Amino acid sequence: MIRQNSLDQWQDRYTSGTTGGTTKIFLPDVREAYKIIRKIQPTSTAVQILTGHGGFGFYLHKFKCKDSPSCKCDPNANEDIIHLLTDCPRFGRERQDLEIEIGIKVTPENLKEIMKNVEKRQSFLEFGVTIAEKIIKENKT
Ligand SMILES: [Zn+2]
Repeated sequence: MIRQNSLDQWQDRYTSGTTGGTTKIFLPDVREAYKIIRKIQPTSTAVQILTGHGGFGFYLHKFKCKDSPSCKCDPNANEDIIHLLTDCPRFGRERQDLEIEIGIKVTPENLKEIMKNVEKRQSFLEFGVTIAEKIIKENKT
C-alpha cells in the first residue's frame, strides 16, 4: 500500500509538473515508463530523443547556441524532436516506411502507444536515432 501510494504521488507530481514536457508525450504514465526505460539502451541519442534536450534547433536556440529555433522545412515550425519525428516533411519518406512497418501513424498522440509495444518501439527508436543523429550533426556546423 505504501508502494502504491508513493507511485500515485509520483504520477501526480509528474503529471502536474512543468518540466519534462517532451518526455511526457512519449511516456505519460510513470509505472509504464519505469518498465519501458529499463528495456531501452540509454544511448546519448535515445536520451536526447526522449527528453527533447539535445542538438535540436529549438533547444539550442533556447540556450542561445543557435540564432533561430526554426526547422529548415518551414520558418514557422520549431525544430524540436516532436516536429522532426511526427511532422517534418524532410523525413516524410522514412516516416511513411515506418508507419507501414508498424501499422500505426506516427503522430504526437500515438507516440505513447508506439512506446508500449516492444517491436513498434524498437523500429520507432531506430527511425528516431537516424533522424536525430542527422539533425545533431547538421547543427554542429
Ligand atoms: Zn521540419
